[in-house]
Amino acid sequence: MHGPFPRLVTSVPGPRSLALWDRERQVIAPGLQSVTQWARVSFSHGQGAILFDVDGNAVIDFMAGIGVCSIGHGHPKHAQAIADQAAKLAAGSFTSEPRVELLETLREVLPKHLSRIQLYSGGAEAVEAALRLARCATRKSMVVSFWGGYHGKTEGTRPLSEGEQTGYGLPAPGSHAVPYANPYRCPFECGGACTRACTHFLRQSVEHGSNREIAAIIVEPIQGRGGNIVPPVGFLREIQQAARDLNALLIVDEMITGFCRTGRFFGFMHEEGVEPDILIMGKGFGNGFPISGVAAREEVARAEPWAKPSGNSSSYGGNALAAAAALATIGVLREERLDQHAAELGNFMLEELRRVTRDVPMVGEVRGKGLLLGIELVRDRISRAPLAREEMRRLFTALLGQGLLAMPSGSALRINPPLVITREQAASGIEILGRVLASAPEILKDTTNE
Ligand code: PMP
Repeated sequence: MHGPFPRLVTSVPGPRSLALWDRERQVIAPGLQSVTQWARVSFSHGQGAILFDVDGNAVIDFMAGIGVCSIGHGHPKHAQAIADQAAKLAAGSFTSEPRVELLETLREVLPKHLSRIQLYSGGAEAVEAALRLARCATRKSMVVSFWGGYHGKTEGTRPLSEGEQTGYGLPAPGSHAVPYANPYRCPFECGGACTRACTHFLRQSVEHGSNREIAAIIVEPIQGRGGNIVPPVGFLREIQQAARDLNALLIVDEMITGFCRTGRFFGFMHEEGVEPDILIMGKGFGNGFPISGVAAREEVARAEPWAKPSGNSSSYGGNALAAAAALATIGVLREERLDQHAAELGNFMLEELRRVTRDVPMVGEVRGKGLLLGIELVRDRISRAPLAREEMRRLFTALLGQGLLAMPSGSALRINPPLVITREQAASGIEILGRVLASAPEILKDTTNE
């Protein structure tokens, strides 16, 4: 793989990408991820943090399939493990050597008290399993979730995901959403006391506005879809305390924050004294192979009917092929010390992003932990008014045109590259970001791209 990157030989998307995109769109149902529709690009392969499209362009990937690609595109150990296992046995839920090894490996990276693990394929599926488990273990009905949170699009998870609640009629009952401690956009305008204001409100709103039968509080240590929002240190601990006081379980959704993304194996590990009762994992777990999971305390995982034979099983969950893919992924994360790399390179990227955008009036905030970073884009720094979706689309396509894939979410740009990204690639991507954001007013004024 020869740098420097990006390397562009046509405009992006190029003619081959556009031809494929056009063929696909004749058949595929509408509703795919917005950025894929905006990009109209087709990638043929990748290496590390570089994606190659069918026209021969090489772009820097700051998106990683929304935090899925942990050990990088085309990692030879990942590819080999999947090929070897696929040639032997792919289907079935019987005990297999890869699954046993995977479960034992997970026990080494999880905290001791999370001693029971069940495996699934998709994120929302694992969230659903966690919700059923919490309701079963507590015999209570309600789940407290957070504004700006995201936990999936199934009927049981939609009510917990901001932006997914409307348009489908009556949502599934059983959830109660409260504000997340988002320091840049604190709904209480609390002047820095976000944790106190939000947890106080949580308690009050459960007391006065719910049936008080709280089975669990579900929280992301950093809100991914919300825009990679980092709450103040102490927020998770306070949420845990509220859960304990309500005799409810703490469910930590580590779909995005897990598997070294934030510089530690799991995101909650940044905070002393936090002990989730249930942890949800996925995305970086399989580096693209669909595998997710739920880890729980022994006594929680024994709750019935969840724990009865076939009580929480699925067709694909924990099959030997998925287990082999995840085992290889975790092996590489540990061998290549990608937790350390994410922490160090994340610090570098955070500083560099702040430096190159210091004088860009449209950049309201640069935040993040490890390789989960966010840039909040605003009309100006005083009003903090968010950019519109169409403006975010234009910035996204302008970045892609320069060879950088970086995903907008609301008015934030989310920066979450594969964890193997090199310093040079990171610096090159940041240079493009700085350049494009500095010329954002002209890009947004230009009407040729409408
Ligand atoms: N939880 C979190 C925190 C997520 O970020 C996501 C996906 N972005 C999900 C759950 C749902 O995962 P999936 O798309 O695999 O259903």
